[in-house]
Amino acid sequence: MSTSSQVPATIGASQERTFDPAHPDFAPYWAGCVEERLLVPVCEDGHAFWPPRPTCSRCYRPTARWVETRGRGSLYSWTVVHRTRNREFAAAVPYVVGMITLADLPGIRMVGHVEADRSLLVEGLELDVVFSETRHGVRLPRWRPRSAPWRGERAHA
Ligand SMILES: [Zn+2]
Repeated sequence: MSTSSQVPATIGASQERTFDPAHPDFAPYWAGCVEERLLVPVCEDGHAFWPPRPTCSRCYRPTARWVETRGRGSLYSWTVVHRTRNREFAAAVPYVVGMITLADLPGIRMVGHVEADRSLLVEGLELDVVFSETRHGVRLPRWRPRSAPWRGERAHA
């Protein structure tokens, strides 16, 4: 039985969801999102890495802790989604999915929804993270241009 706080753990098995909030490797990340903090794992040797996994992608030592990023980044690349089978995002098409290089951890690029007018999209566009809640009650990070406020939905729904 699922509620807004207990989201079924499925990846790809449903057209409803493309992420798994219950996966243990991501638990601190999702907990951070609830608090509107963007967290990344750091291994025993101090390497920050992404995506979360039990061991570091560079030295294979275990994850030792999680650190909060400043939530700032720059647009590395992007695509515009015009059609989706995912009902969670169907009402949002067309929307932009970008790869964002974190400003304080430049070795990390995250994939995320970029809420920006497509005419503004350019490599290196400075972005800030904001958080908003899906209809399943999951708080997701999204990215907005730093100098041009988004005129759509509010940052904190
Ligand atoms: Zn490492």
